[in-house]
Amino acid sequence: MEFEIESPKNITELCKTIKSYRSKSFRFGAGYTDLLMELKKHTPRNLTVINLAQLKDVSFSSIRSTTKNIQIGAMITASKLVTDTRIEQLFPVLQQAAHNLASTQIRQVATLGGNMCTASPSGDLICAAMALQASCEIMNDDKKIHNLSIQDFFIGVRKTALKKNEFLFAINIPRNKKRTATLHSGFIKIGTRKSMECSVVSLAFHLQIDKTGKIIDAGIAIGASAPTVKFAQSACQFLIGKKINSFSEKEKEEFANKVLSYASPISDIRATAWYRKEVLFNISKGVLE
Ligand SMILES: Cc1cc2nc3c(=O)[nH]c(=O)nc-3n(C[C@H](O)[C@H](O)[C@H](O)COP(=O)(O)OP(=O)(O)OC[C@H]3O[C@@H](n4cnc5c(N)ncnc54)[C@H](O)[C@@H]3O)c2cc1C
Repeated sequence: MEFEIESPKNITELCKTIKSYRSKSFRFGAGYTDLLMELKKHTPRNLTVINLAQLKDVSFSSIRSTTKNIQIGAMITASKLVTDTRIEQLFPVLQQAAHNLASTQIRQVATLGGNMCTASPSGDLICAAMALQASCEIMNDDKKIHNLSIQDFFIGVRKTALKKNEFLFAINIPRNKKRTATLHSGFIKIGTRKSMECSVVSLAFHLQIDKTGKIIDAGIAIGASAPTVKFAQSACQFLIGKKINSFSEKEKEEFANKVLSYASPISDIRATAWYRKEVLFNISKGVLE
């Protein structure tokens, strides 16, 4: 495994570096937990890694509150997501997903941006961010930013919509609809063992409930069930306007079937497609129990 490293110190230097490598082979490196595994298997010749870890830029590596959103920089680590009180209070689903990622040591370095840009169908932070209906802030080598919905960011197995001269700068999560809303928000991860394991199936849910018990907004996403993490739109629509404590058995099953309609899992070494669907149906029902 041999490659050159470039370590830009700020965003301006980063953009210049990307420009200078436009016609050459390069990759970004953040926490390196995915990248080094991949390069161990195969390192292209004359590869340069543009190291993001030395870069000092507040927005790229902090969590900031605006009136409409919470902006989370791409360089925020999983462990920071676990300990940040805003994430804990506003978006428990994201905190739980981060808490369940790998091990304490990996969480110290694994970044949100790295998880998103690996674009694994079982990416835990992706699944939570999708349930939260986040949007992606993408910067290009002219320092221009454009936004893309998280659903459009993922275009295939381990493929994102990023162009060669672009990188993920941050994600924006819309604030909950009402400050007084109660949250039913969590992350369910089924694996073959308790830690250091990618999901066999995962489900992220973030329901906002008003004082009368009515669901006023819903976000449901599933992981390891299709080529990309999927947002279960029709399952969300099914929930909105209904009372959280009044679902009949039939309605719970109808909801679980709607979630399942977004799944097209494969059979692999960790589980069969049939098993993944069974588990997904049961954990979906469980969200309403
Ligand atoms: C033992 C082990 C257990 C794991 N368990 C889990 C788990 O339970 N759940 C889970 O979801 N993942 C798991 N992972 C995968 C990994 O830790 C996460 O995906 C992590 O969040 C990746 O972040 P990173 O900063 O290390 O990314 P890196 O390895 O640095 O980068 C990953 C990819 O993203 C690109 N990239 C990084 N940042 C940017 C950016 N800002 N813009 C554009 N491209 C960028 C890189 O070029 C590379 O292609 C595990 C990995 C290991 C080794």
